[in-house]
Amino acid sequence: MADNRGVVYTGAGSVEVQDIRFPDLVLHEGPGVPKSNAGRKCEHGVILKNIVTNICGSDQHMVRGRTTAPEGLVLGHEITGEVIEVGRDVEFIKKGDIVSVPFNVACGRCKMCKRQDTHICLNVNPERPGGAYGYVDMGGWVGGQSEYVMVPYADFQLLKFPDKEKAMEKILDLTMLSDIFPTGYHGAVSAGVTTGSTVYVAGAGPVGLAAAHSAQLLGASVVIVGDLKEERLAQARSFGCETINLKEHDDPGELIEQILGVTEVDCAIDAVGFEAYGHGTDHKEAPATVLNTMMDVVEAGGKMGIPGLYVTEDPGAEDEDAKQGSLKVKFGLGWSKAHHFVTGQTPVMQYHRQLMMAILNGKANIAEAVNATVISLDEAPQGYRDFDSGVSKKFVIDPHGMLR
Ligand code: NAD
Ligand code: ZN
Ligand code: ZN
Repeated sequence: MADNRGVVYTGAGSVEVQDIRFPDLVLHEGPGVPKSNAGRKCEHGVILKNIVTNICGSDQHMVRGRTTAPEGLVLGHEITGEVIEVGRDVEFIKKGDIVSVPFNVACGRCKMCKRQDTHICLNVNPERPGGAYGYVDMGGWVGGQSEYVMVPYADFQLLKFPDKEKAMEKILDLTMLSDIFPTGYHGAVSAGVTTGSTVYVAGAGPVGLAAAHSAQLLGASVVIVGDLKEERLAQARSFGCETINLKEHDDPGELIEQILGVTEVDCAIDAVGFEAYGHGTDHKEAPATVLNTMMDVVEAGGKMGIPGLYVTEDPGAEDEDAKQGSLKVKFGLGWSKAHHFVTGQTPVMQYHRQLMMAILNGKANIAEAVNATVISLDEAPQGYRDFDSGVSKKFVIDPHGMLR
């Protein structure tokens, strides 16, 4: 029997469950680990037995071959688990704690971490600011779509659930704290959503749905979700959003007018990213579509949250510019309307504790909003295929069968 098993990227379009190394408190040499990060000792870390670990749209960019992710990379950055071993330098996290892991790897000691910008930590990735588990260009930290994983800087990063029994009752909601709930919420906060706001959310995948639910929590008067997939729009309607189908109609402003009586909203959230489709029946990929649409439909002076991911290199892009991450963005339109843009990965730690409290006290129903669907580790490759086909489900892997 293997010590540990995990979901491994094996080339464009494919993932496999393979035997992998049982983690210890060292970042070993491996696929995607920068040379100067290999051999790094992590006595400030812990080993987790993973209770739940989710598949994300961010993983799909890699699995579709749209990044420079190396083969052999163990995937998974959405991790919730039980602590089974603590390093020498861990003071406060204890064996047996059940914890949520922010998908950002962050040291807690650098300039960025000290100002809560844990998404651009300077000490965890020698190649660029910011680290993550199981992700291309993010420092090579081993992913957690597996049975066991190592998490560094445990005292700083981990969010401990106050009551184990209650945590297991709400685990399908709490599992969304590692990424998509804070990400959707960050999108809404950075778009300036407040009481009475009218909001356009582009994309009805799990992040779009999390952004829509977050906008409702923040008091939006109307949340309009746009996508080209009817099944996903139906999911958005199930918790009170308005929807627009951009496959059937190519003018979002006109559709917004049918709902609001005006063609513009107060603010918008991009929950799509660079693999965006153009609108209409003849929809081809057009990576700047969402950015340009948001500038069209957001009123002057409005803000946009852009959690949707954009890359510096896209080997699968249709044109040469896009291959270098250069898109046809109508920046002059945004400039003339004095728009504000907030981009980048989510600083999860800015939000996860408050969102945990909202879940534990029944104020947030994120699992229901994103249609959390439990699968086993062996079912993960099928989960990736189903998610890619556009089903409206957020797949939650249960690697030890603890939820069934
Ligand atoms: P997803 O692929 O499931 O959802 C994307 C949705 O966008 C799909 O339903 C697709 O049909 C729709 N879409 C495509 N073109 C569109 C258009 N022009 N207008 C409206 N909708 C369109 O992915 P997800 O898991 O929901 O993630 C969404 C994005 O958020 C991804 O790019 C992901 O990488 C990113 N993300 C970023 C962070 C962060 O920290 N910033 C965290 C998590 C995810
Ligand atoms: Zn994610
Ligand atoms: Zn740091």
